[in-house]
Amino acid sequence: MKMLLKNGRVIDPANKIDDTLDIIIEDGKISEIKPRISEKGIETIDLAGLVVAPGFIDMHVHLREPGREDEETIETGTKAAAAGGFTGVACMPNTEPVNDDQAVTEYILSQAKKSAIVNVYPIGCITKAREGEELAQIGDLVESGVVAVSDDGNCVASGLIMRKALEYTKMFGIPIIDHCEDPNLSDGGVMNEGYYSTILGLKGMPFLAEDVMAIRDILLAEMVKGKLHIAHVSTKGCVNMVREAKKRGAHVTCEVTPHHFTLTDAAVMGYDTNTKMNPPLRSEGDRKAVLEGLKDGTIDCIATDHAPHNSIEKNVEFSQAPFGIIGLETAVSLALDRLVHTRIINLSRLVELMSLNPARILNIKKGILSKGEDADITILDIKKTVTVDVKKLKSKSRNTPFNGLKLKGAPVMTIVSGKIVHDSR
Ligand SMILES: [Zn+2]
Repeated sequence: MKMLLKNGRVIDPANKIDDTLDIIIEDGKISEIKPRISEKGIETIDLAGLVVAPGFIDMHVHLREPGREDEETIETGTKAAAAGGFTGVACMPNTEPVNDDQAVTEYILSQAKKSAIVNVYPIGCITKAREGEELAQIGDLVESGVVAVSDDGNCVASGLIMRKALEYTKMFGIPIIDHCEDPNLSDGGVMNEGYYSTILGLKGMPFLAEDVMAIRDILLAEMVKGKLHIAHVSTKGCVNMVREAKKRGAHVTCEVTPHHFTLTDAAVMGYDTNTKMNPPLRSEGDRKAVLEGLKDGTIDCIATDHAPHNSIEKNVEFSQAPFGIIGLETAVSLALDRLVHTRIINLSRLVELMSLNPARILNIKKGILSKGEDADITILDIKKTVTVDVKKLKSKSRNTPFNGLKLKGAPVMTIVSGKIVHDSR
């Protein structure tokens, strides 16, 4: 199988390329990349006016399989990923049963082999059952193929366990992804603590719940020299602390979600449960700090925290609803519309945030368009206007606060190992 991609604007930050180039794909790999290739008799796709980037990787996704296949499966989740411009997703371990055991990792990988249309990278648990009490068999999990460990949704409340986890994962060279939240300080809150929680009469979670856990983790990671990745950063304090830690040379990275750079807690007015997530939508000051972090390199990745929930569970009183929204099919358009078209970041930085950096953090050989690399490619139309329509989503769930939103810029084609898995040009 041979294919020629012609006339696209290739943006590949790893090779410092932003140029009009042609690409030949052969047997799932990039076999040639240079200006003006002409080869007759092979499938040729003209990409004039479009951006060609190394495949985007979402390093924070909940695929819900095994256990909650009514909300999402590896098949539907990876279809949503492909439609959203992602060639790979890392899936969080809070499935049922949880991924704290080799058998679960192997099950996820075997299901992915059968039904996934993009690459699936499982994340294992830090602690058994995500209970924060006893370390999971991290060595076994790594052997089965997990790329990181996380108790996502739960914070590892014990500093001692976190220290041990950092020491242990260091031996395997994998990162710990922590959901930074002091459960005592968040104390059952359902939204950000502040003006809007007071107006709405909803119990608030203070920003400090995130900040105190983030600084504990950063200090532990620095002492142990382990690799720490902070999931879904949402507060000004957390962004500042990561910035300072990086200046000191700590191995600390972090991600932000599209909803945290787009919305604030003002969106909760009206009690729409599609604005309930954890960490919660924060204040405008926090959102601005996140934008600053995206701009200056403090934030390493954009990840969706795609969290499908069925409508029966979401259509209840705000305080009763589960946390989380879907994000795979809106992330790239939100990033193009709200970050690139507003000139907060440029396209090369976007590719770093959505492809190169997640690949580096997870230690997977992706995120680059050199000769010989896997032909995982994301193609963008930065001028195309799209309107989010929940009825047309590939995800099994519909819980998004962005329905009806008009956005400029969209993923239009997704190629995984040389195969076109999505095409909406
Ligand atoms: Zn999550």
